[in-house]
Amino acid sequence: MSRASNFPPPFSPRDYVAEPTDPADERIEVGVLIVGAGPAGLACAIRLGQLLEEHPDVAERLGDVPVAVLEKGKQPGSHLLSGAVVNPRALHRLFGDRLRIEDLPSFGPVPGESVYVLTRRAALPIPPPPPMRNHGNWIFSLSQLGRFLGERAEEGGAMILPETSAQKLLVSHGRVLGVRTGDKGRGREGGELGNFEAGSDLVAKVTVLAEGTQGHLTGVALDRFGLRGEDPQVWELGVKEVWKVAKPLDRIIHTMGWPLRPGRKYREFGGSFIYPMGKDMVTIGLVVGLDYRDASLSVHDLLQELKTHPKIRKILAGGERVEWGAKTIPSGGFHSLPRRLHAPGLLLCGDGAGMVNIPRLKGVHYAIESGRLAAEAAFRALQRGETPASALSSYDDAVRASFIWDDLYEVRNMRQVFGRGFFVGGALASAMTMSKGRVELGKMPAEPDADQPLLVTDRDKSYPAPDGALTFDKLSSVFASGNKTRDDQPNHIRLERRVPRDVAQLWAHMCPAQVYEVGPEEGDGTVKVDVAPSNCVQCGAITAKGGRLTPPEGGSGPEYTLT
Ligand SMILES: Cc1cc2nc3c(=O)[nH]c(=O)nc-3n(C[C@H](O)[C@H](O)[C@H](O)COP(=O)(O)OP(=O)(O)OC[C@H]3O[C@@H](n4cnc5c(N)ncnc54)[C@H](O)[C@@H]3O)c2cc1C
Ligand code: SF4
Repeated sequence: MSRASNFPPPFSPRDYVAEPTDPADERIEVGVLIVGAGPAGLACAIRLGQLLEEHPDVAERLGDVPVAVLEKGKQPGSHLLSGAVVNPRALHRLFGDRLRIEDLPSFGPVPGESVYVLTRRAALPIPPPPPMRNHGNWIFSLSQLGRFLGERAEEGGAMILPETSAQKLLVSHGRVLGVRTGDKGRGREGGELGNFEAGSDLVAKVTVLAEGTQGHLTGVALDRFGLRGEDPQVWELGVKEVWKVAKPLDRIIHTMGWPLRPGRKYREFGGSFIYPMGKDMVTIGLVVGLDYRDASLSVHDLLQELKTHPKIRKILAGGERVEWGAKTIPSGGFHSLPRRLHAPGLLLCGDGAGMVNIPRLKGVHYAIESGRLAAEAAFRALQRGETPASALSSYDDAVRASFIWDDLYEVRNMRQVFGRGFFVGGALASAMTMSKGRVELGKMPAEPDADQPLLVTDRDKSYPAPDGALTFDKLSSVFASGNKTRDDQPNHIRLERRVPRDVAQLWAHMCPAQVYEVGPEEGDGTVKVDVAPSNCVQCGAITAKGGRLTPPEGGSGPEYTLT
């Protein structure tokens, strides 16, 4: 039995930590540098704008660009994907009486909800378990919300730099100084093309990493500053589609059970969500824990299979798929949070730090709240008479005193219990929820996703054939993500290319974007893995399962508009 972790990628975090290289007068200086225009980074920029408006003296000292936000997507929202049923609590705190929730681009409050346990043909309704109750939450498209928050951040004075990936963490004398952005216009082998543009050093008084799931520099910083949590981080992979539908859906739906297998040996944990997006659209997605063992499992194909269920087919009948996307979700929970959320000159927030409540499938409000708290700590560090180190450490105190900490503590073992199988895990999870986390299950062991011993079944033989109407193959799905990555740029995926067949099969089935193919036998018991990096939608799953995603050239990847 192979384990993907026995074939580590050629990647060293040290290669992504550097001193500034641009001459001092050519470095771009900003006040606070935020990496990532997701809900965490944009909330941080918006709150900083509010604080600087109230304190023009501080704004003046910060020069021409008090706040900058780097985003690798074409624009804020292009790389955002979520459910997204959002607890509005953090949005209320961010905007106060400046904006009402009704003023945001949403599909309204959750109108009602159902939960079903599915078998191949039947759907058994059950009362929504406490974590799945969504009364009072609002339905959004995270991509649309990201664009809206980006505009609010710019109105507040932030400079957003889209199509710009943060590649290296600039560190000098143990202090984070900023980031180096990626080069543009390099060819497949790394040579400079006619349109070559070198990256730049961006230096800041405080750098906030809000990179979301599998954050590249967040991972580098966790290693550089020894911040990794007690438990390793683990992830889920979510694949989702947006459909135009003939009939409006009048409630949100969650399902458990089929097409996942309940047996403990498979470790298939997850479920689906089907949410209305106004009168004529729905989003449907399947989320599966990446600690699964079967090398033939493909979340994309399981989602296609899910849509063939009579209950779900009916919702989509007469409709048309308009968008597709995929992304991972950190699911280790409380024990996988970093030991500290700050280092000299640096703050970490949102999914990058693992702030997700997986039984509730909620992270947007933690991202927004942590971004807001990071802004307050960064602002404190900029004020005269403050010691930057203690100002930044106040961020940890603020997060520990916030609802983020309480909520994540309450469900602290929730993900791990499902390692015991669906039924035992479900019973333990219910006991924890009913007691609001007071049931003490002891600390449960957690293993990295790539450490799971693989098994190979013929599960892939029963995936439905793509018909182009209800079910789709991976390549047409990549097209539906809006991905227009340049084919001839350097490969951004670090991966061992000669591995046992089961590891290669794992990667090929797992990747929702058909980046990997199992190549020919190499004669020594291994096969070659062929890689088509331009298909990549940057979901991050490969990092969980034994490779390493690094950011490609800025502006590459999907162009989500509705996810
Ligand atoms: C399928 C799925 C369903 C979900 N459903 C829900 C739900 O219903 N409700 C809910 O509350 N939460 C849900 N979540 C979780 C939620 O989406 C996340 O918790 C939330 O998006 C985290 O926000 P963030 O700002 O930390 O990161 P992200 O939203 O991931 O944003 C990070 C941004 O940073 C950019 N970036 C990253 N690295 C770099 C770099 N090096 N350089 C430049 N830019 C960079 C990315 O392109 C991206 O735009 C779901 C997640 C998934 C995947
Ligand atoms: S290659 Fe890209 S799309 Fe495929 S699993 Fe890795 S990160 Fe996801």
